[in-house]
Formats: sequence, C-alpha cells, structure tokens
Amino acid sequence: MKRHALVAGTVAILASFVSVFAVQVYQGHSRALAGAWDFITVIAQVANDHAFRSFESVKASMEQARFLETQGLPADENNMSDSTIVREIAVLDAAGSIVRSTLPSSIGARPFAETDLKRARAQPDLVVFSTVTPGRTFGDAPQDAQRSQRYLLPALIASPDGGFIAAAINPDYFTQVYSLGAATTEVSISLLTLSAVVVASSGGSPLEVGISLNGKPPFNGSVFDTQSGRIGESVEATDLVFFRTTPLFPFVTLVSVPRAAVLAEWRSQTILLSSLLALVMLGAGMLLRQVDLRQRQQRQLEEAERTSHMTRFLSAIVDAPSSLTAILTTDLNIVRANDSFLANLDCSGGNIGPVLKRRDVSGGTRILKFAEQRRQDAEDFDLTVSRGNGVFSILRFRLTWHVFPDIGDYLVLVGQDETRRRATEMALAQSAKLITLGEMATGMAHELNQPLNVIKMAAQITQLELDDATAPGGAAAEMPVDYLRRGLQQITTQVDRAASIIEHMRIFGRAPSGQAQPVDAVQVCRDAVNLVREQLRSLGIAIVVEDPGEELLVRIHRILIEQVIVNLAMNARDAISGDGRSTGTVRVRPQRAADGKVVILVSDDGPGVPAALRNRLFEPFFTTKPVGKGVGLGLAISFGIVRDSGGSLTLTDDGPGATFRIELSGCGQAVEHNGHGGG
Ligand code: ADP
Repeated sequence: MKRHALVAGTVAILASFVSVFAVQVYQGHSRALAGAWDFITVIAQVANDHAFRSFESVKASMEQARFLETQGLPADENNMSDSTIVREIAVLDAAGSIVRSTLPSSIGARPFAETDLKRARAQPDLVVFSTVTPGRTFGDAPQDAQRSQRYLLPALIASPDGGFIAAAINPDYFTQVYSLGAATTEVSISLLTLSAVVVASSGGSPLEVGISLNGKPPFNGSVFDTQSGRIGESVEATDLVFFRTTPLFPFVTLVSVPRAAVLAEWRSQTILLSSLLALVMLGAGMLLRQVDLRQRQQRQLEEAERTSHMTRFLSAIVDAPSSLTAILTTDLNIVRANDSFLANLDCSGGNIGPVLKRRDVSGGTRILKFAEQRRQDAEDFDLTVSRGNGVFSILRFRLTWHVFPDIGDYLVLVGQDETRRRATEMALAQSAKLITLGEMATGMAHELNQPLNVIKMAAQITQLELDDATAPGGAAAEMPVDYLRRGLQQITTQVDRAASIIEHMRIFGRAPSGQAQPVDAVQVCRDAVNLVREQLRSLGIAIVVEDPGEELLVRIHRILIEQVIVNLAMNARDAISGDGRSTGTVRVRPQRAADGKVVILVSDDGPGVPAALRNRLFEPFFTTKPVGKGVGLGLAISFGIVRDSGGSLTLTDDGPGATFRIELSGCGQAVEHNGHGGG
C-alpha cells in the first residue's frame, strides 16, 4: 500500500517536472524567435529611413542640376552637393548622349537604354533608376568597368528642353553604412530594387551586388507587393528576413539573420535544461535556483550584446556624412549627433528642448509636441534657422519614434539642408509669377482705364464750370462751389483706387522675404481675386469670394498664397474659355475646417479634369494647353508653395467643374499663447 503510494507520488512528480521542462523549452524557443524578429524589424526601419533620405538628397541634387541647366549654368563639381552618394552628375541630350558632366571623361557616353529615356520623359517628376552596372562612372570602358570591381546605380530625370539629367549613384556608400552596423554579427543588411536586384549588401552573408533574388527561395515575384513584412516564418526557412519598402522610391531594405544563429542560443539553453531535468530527477532541486541564475546572466549578456549592435548601427547612421542626424531620448537629450547636425543647429549636445525654443529657430514646437504626445510613428517637418541679416537655413527632417525592445525608446532625426533647393524652387516660382504678371497686364490696363476715364470726365466738367463762371459776363460769385468740390473729391477717390491697384501689383511681383506673419485668409482671397477680376470679366467669367463672416488667421507669406489663388483662377479661366463657353463662374471659398485648419476652395464650372489626368496634374511641365500657352508649372509651383507653408493642395472629387482645395494650419489661438503648445 505504502509502496504504491510512493511510486504514484514519484511518477506524479516526474510528470510535472517533464511538463515544466517542455514548457520551458517551448517558451525559450518562442522568446528567442520573437526577440530576433523585433531586432531585425527595428534595423530594417532605421536602414529604410536612411535609404529614403539618401535618395531624396540624390533627387534634390538632380533637380538642382536641372534647374541650373535651364538657367544656363552648367552643372559642375561646385554645384554638386554630395559626392559620397553620387559619383557623377551628367547632362544628356535628347538622344541620351552625355554632353556635359562633372567628370569630363564621360562626355560622349550613352549610358541609358531607350526604354529608360522613355520612362523618364513620361514622368518628369520621378527619378527613373536603371539597373546596377559594373563600373565607377558613366564613361568607363567595358573592360575597365569589369576590372574596377565597383558598381554604379544610374538614375535619370527628364529636362524641359527634351534632354536629361543623370546621376551615377554609388552603391558602396550604402554598403559602407550597413557594414558599420552589421560587421560583427550574422545579421546582413541589403538594399534591393523592387524587382529584387541587389544594389548593396553587407554583414553576415552579404548578397552579391547585381544579382536578382527573384524566383530564388524564399523570394518570389510578389514578395514586395506590401510595404513591409516577414519572410521565413515557416520552420523550414533557413533565414529570418524582414523587408520594408522605401517610401516614394522603388527600393527595399532587407535585413536577415540565419535561423540557426537565433536558435543556437536556444539549443544551448535546451541542453542546459535537459541536464537540469536530470539533476531534478536525482532530487537535486537545490540546483534549480543556481541554473536559473546562470540563465539570467546569459540573457543579460545577450541583451548587452544586442544593445551594442543596435547602438553601433545607430551610430553608423548618425555618422553618415550626407545628412544631419541625431538620436534623442524621448525627453530630447542628445544621445549622439553628427557634426553637421550640431553645427547647423548651433549647439553642442545636451538637451535640444531649449535649442528648439530659441528665437532664431522656428518650427521646433512640432518636435516638442511629437515627443510630448508620445506618438510612436514618423513625421516630416522643417526647421528654419535664422542666420541674421535676413538669411535663413531650411532644414528638412524626418522624425521617427523607435521602440527598441531591449534598450527603450528613442527618437531618430534624419535630415538634410534644403536651403539651396528651396532657393532654386523660389527662383522658379518667382519667374513663373512674372509670366503670370505679364499675362495679367492687359486686364490691369483695362482696370486702370476705368478710374482714368472717371477722372478725365470729372476734370472736364470742372473745367467747363470754371470756364463758364469766369467768362466775360459770367459771374464768378455764382460759381457752383459744391459741384466743383464733388468733382475734385471724385478725382481724388479714383486716383486712390488706381494707386491701390498699382501698389498691389507691385507687391505681388516682389519675392517674399523674412518670416511668415499671421494674416487673414479671407483678405488674402479678396486681394488675389482683385488682381484677376477684370481679366476674367472681359471673357464673360465672374469670380466671387464667399464671405465666411469671420477672420481666418493663418501664418503664411501672403503673396505666396495669393500667387496660388491667382494660378488656380487663371487655370479656371483657361478651362472655361478653352471649353468654348462665353460665360462662367469661379468661386473662392475660404472657410474654417476641423482641427483648427483653414481651407480655401477654388472651384469653377468648366469641364473639370478627366479622370486619366488627375494623377499627373501636379507634375512639373505637365500641361494640356497648346504650345506657347501653358508651361505646366502653375500647379507644380502652387503645390510646392502650399507644402512649404505646412499645408496641402489637392484636387477634390467635387464636380461638375474642378475644385482645388488649399488646406493651411490656422493660427487663431496660437498667436496669443505662442510657445506653450496648448490645445
Ligand atoms: P498650365 O496651366 O501651364 O498647363 P498647370 O500646372 O497650371 O500648367 O496645369 C496643368 C494642367 O492641369 C492644365 O494644362 C490642365 O490640363 C489641368 N488643369 C488645371 N486646372 C484645371 C481646371 N480648373 N480645370 C480643368 N483642368 C485643369
């Protein structure tokens, strides 16, 4: 009896130990996997931010070269902003031959296939990337290219004159940055095209540049259809892979770690647990705690190791020379920042809270709010730093909240100096405005004619009265004084009216300067409409501003937004009169919207925008108007102006006719309570 009970008891104890063992083993396995997934997800996110910023800066250099080219200032080395990512910038003629380049040895080369040229011409706002090819520059002879053991990624945009601007992107740049992050681990980081051709790769088991992974397991044709995802979740897969596609550019960052490496630790733990079980079986329960201690130590070691990878990787990104980068704690202490970041913000580390509140820095409250609201996502914004004497630097940043599984949360700021690009954009906007002014001149002449006519009539009548009164036999005493006074009054009023028309045109023609000030959007709409009313009226088109019955304060450069409204009104005019109509109406409706926003709707009763064109309207140089009439810049420039003012310009679905929507952030409350970020 007693013996039976003893055996049953022993069996029960053994059974419970075995189940504890199984649970431990299972949990250890899933913990190791989950940790590895977290790790590579974060690495992919950071690498992806970096890739996005890098391609943006390449695009900016190309657009700048394109602009300089249209201004007759050929691109040369001085105009090239970043030679670490871009090895060469070249100007191509319409047939695709290099006619000028930052490397004269490339002149005459024809690096792009006809299909690339066609694609670039079809979408002048996009950068077209060709396939990765061996060589260092566009001009390399084939045998030199092979021998160089280097690669280049050719990129292309179309110019308005029918030619192209090309950039030879240096993929080694990415490899270098990635190597710093992944060198000592089995983690490999790669940059691929959307069709899975390797552009750069480094780390554990680097992929060969130029080869295509498409069709090779675990990849298949459709893997990059989604924005991000895991590959290799099944038990048979040899690697855990996480990918994330780059916003706006056709690339993917891919991070992978061999499953064996992740599970190696788990295996050793399992062996540890097996011996533990054996000990337990022998009744040495005391050892349990000790082993647990060892396990904990091991986990701490692992964590320390992972943390150091992470920090090393982040540092690599921070030290990338092309951008302004910083890693901040969530209470805005700088953990690391590169020299360009510190120099541009004129600070030496510490907490950037006070820097963002400095009087010479504007736009910083967005960062403060982002950190305060603990929003775990990403946001783009501008910081404007005043350099004195009316000179400003514009720094565009992407701020991302990163949740690091092992070391806590960090904010990563990756940015670039956009001052030069904005300056060229402004120059372009200014010259487009002068074209508009020229177009408006006839309307204006008409508008000025009216007060001039009234003045002339009033002057003539006054003169007649005077002649009558002073004629021989006339009685000067009977001069109708009141009548004369009214005539002169009328002359003064009309002179004022004419002067205000001229004054406004003069202001409109000026380029904006200094910081944006709070202005009433309703008044801005009225002023803009006054500039074009007469011209539209001569074509039978009425233009009205609807009165919202209140002031709508926004902080903008008033002449810039006026320019946008004028552009939209001129387009409405062309749409209505181009439709062969002799009457029409354009409505400008400023109104308050949700979240303290202010919206200005500009709509017309013209034919509207065909569905097939909707996506292309805002592309530079896109126009449906005949040669000599449209240049296709109005909407592209307006879009840029509104975006740079922190708002958005869109075409709505409202019909019939076209309705454009300008959305701006209001500043009704913020003017009084500036700096406290309340509400
Ligand atoms: P442009 O006026 O020089 O053509 P824009 O960038 O201002 O350049 O406009 C691009 C194109 O968008 C126009 O050519 C026209 O096809 C279309 N568009 C713009 N506004 C309207 C509108 N109100 N109604 C219909 N189509 C429009």
